[in-house]
Amino acid sequence: MTVPTITLNDGHEIPQLGFGVFLVEPADTERIVLDALEIGYRHIDTAAIYRNEEGVGRAIAASGIPRDELFITTKLWNADQGMEAAHNAIDVSLDKLGLEQVDLYLIHWPTPKRDLYVESWKALEQIKAAGKTKSIGVSNFLVEHLERVQAASDTIPAVNQIELHPYHQRLAETSYGHDHGIAIEAWGPLGQGKYPLFELPEITSAAAAHDRTPAQVVLRWHIQQRHVIFPKSNNRQRIAENFDLFDFELTSAEQAAITGLERGGRVGGDPNEVN
Ligand code: NAD
Repeated sequence: MTVPTITLNDGHEIPQLGFGVFLVEPADTERIVLDALEIGYRHIDTAAIYRNEEGVGRAIAASGIPRDELFITTKLWNADQGMEAAHNAIDVSLDKLGLEQVDLYLIHWPTPKRDLYVESWKALEQIKAAGKTKSIGVSNFLVEHLERVQAASDTIPAVNQIELHPYHQRLAETSYGHDHGIAIEAWGPLGQGKYPLFELPEITSAAAAHDRTPAQVVLRWHIQQRHVIFPKSNNRQRIAENFDLFDFELTSAEQAAITGLERGGRVGGDPNEVN
């Protein structure tokens, strides 16, 4: 199964489908990431705050997969924002991952109350220039945060990783991303299981029509919306199910019906409040 790639604004390519490890227990991470790599995933999304970078690193090493066939993302945690702290944090993350370079390094949350995200962005530009990451981006940034970064810097974030699922589609951020060449990564692509997405008729009818599961229909909707996604599961069968998205296509009517589910239904933190 070949996963399509999206070309980022810095010329690097990102596999549109990856595997996320938020809430994967550190002790289980190596085994679960190895399962994902065996199934065929080549893109892993972790973060310093997930406390499982070591397990991701052990799985990468044990897999024997050449480094240039993998796309690894990690993230700068809020408490490490600022010039010096960010430089230290990437070194700690690289050490834990057992890598010399990640593919993508993100500011995890803007934390506007700290007012350090512009300085942290300048640190990420230096971290990229030093070869410790190929690409740099942001996460949970609202338009006002993106505008401040753009006004203060010559580098446009390669991605904005935001909560995005059928009940919460983030029109302001996706439009800004489209206009400025910022790829959208959708976290919580399945709504984190926090609302009964898989029972909605718009989704169950498409699932029946294509002989797929509701989860596959939701993930396929994201793929056709051009989002980068990395659904998380600890279960090997679901990890395989979530990878099997590329031999069916939703019709434009099915796609539109799911897009019509927007409810402003955020399930995660408010980007202006998370600190
Ligand atoms: P998700 O939407 O991927 O949902 C995960 C939940 O869905 C789990 O409870 C899992 O059991 C269930 N699930 C997965 N596959 C399923 C299937 N096929 N059928 C039925 N249920 C299924 O939520 P997530 O893990 O929060 O998001 C994905 C990734 O996004 C994370 O692992 C992490 O890498 C990233 N993330 C980033 C941020 C951020 O602030 N940048 C925040 C949250 C998550």
